[in-house]
Amino acid sequence: MNLYDAHNHLQDDRFAGRQGELMAACEKTGVVRMVVNGACESDWPQVLALARRSEIILPSFGYHPWHVAERTPDWIQRLESFLDQVPSAVGEIGLDRWKPNLPYESQEEIFLAQLRLASQRNLPASIHCLQTWGRLHDLLRDHPRPARGLVLHSFGGPKEMIPAFTKLGAYFSFPGYFLHERKQRQRETFRRVPPHRLLLETDAPDQLLPGDRNRFPLADADGRPLNHPANLSAVYEGLAEFLGEKVESLAAQVEENFQRLFGGAR
Ligand SMILES: [Zn+2]
Repeated sequence: MNLYDAHNHLQDDRFAGRQGELMAACEKTGVVRMVVNGACESDWPQVLALARRSEIILPSFGYHPWHVAERTPDWIQRLESFLDQVPSAVGEIGLDRWKPNLPYESQEEIFLAQLRLASQRNLPASIHCLQTWGRLHDLLRDHPRPARGLVLHSFGGPKEMIPAFTKLGAYFSFPGYFLHERKQRQRETFRRVPPHRLLLETDAPDQLLPGDRNRFPLADADGRPLNHPANLSAVYEGLAEFLGEKVESLAAQVEENFQRLFGGAR
């Protein structure tokens, strides 16, 4: 079975230089491709270095809404220069009205500038959205979007909006975190996702799975738990179980979806 991680942050400093070991563990469990998302200018070089090291990595460059305040005056030119260097995707970009004390002003402008780049180059875009689904929908509807599509990563929006987002080219990515008992609403939402728009992700090192599904326990230097990217197989199994499907058929469908969206990213 070939497994595809639609969204993680393998470059994260919390992994403390153990990326080689993590990638080897991933490959042993069947991971053949992972989209590694940069979040700000300071981590783009690390994402690029990982991509040069292993061909399972599809690098993705973007400004995450949590980091937009760190941007330099020429951030957009720098972003373009990273996209020029290697076949890549755009992300993680997005909008966030959930995080306390995070200013919203300027988020839309930064998001739209990056969406424009993705659309001009027809690169898949990975989108983070918390508590602003209606606005995200309207912005996507009213602006050019990448023709190949985009990912709503860790989709936690209302199930009623799935058809409208599908029409705009969206794929919906399921994180292992939604396997926690208390995330029932988010899990149920995924019953409504059209099978040809379904993806899975770890979001490692974040979004830890429930304890009994956490096959690769890992911690940072201070002992705080981290999500190991090789937990992807447990995400596949957990979602297949929930949907009442065979994990092999789920994996075959997700492989097709991943290839269609990310396959020929250039
Ligand atoms: Zn992320």
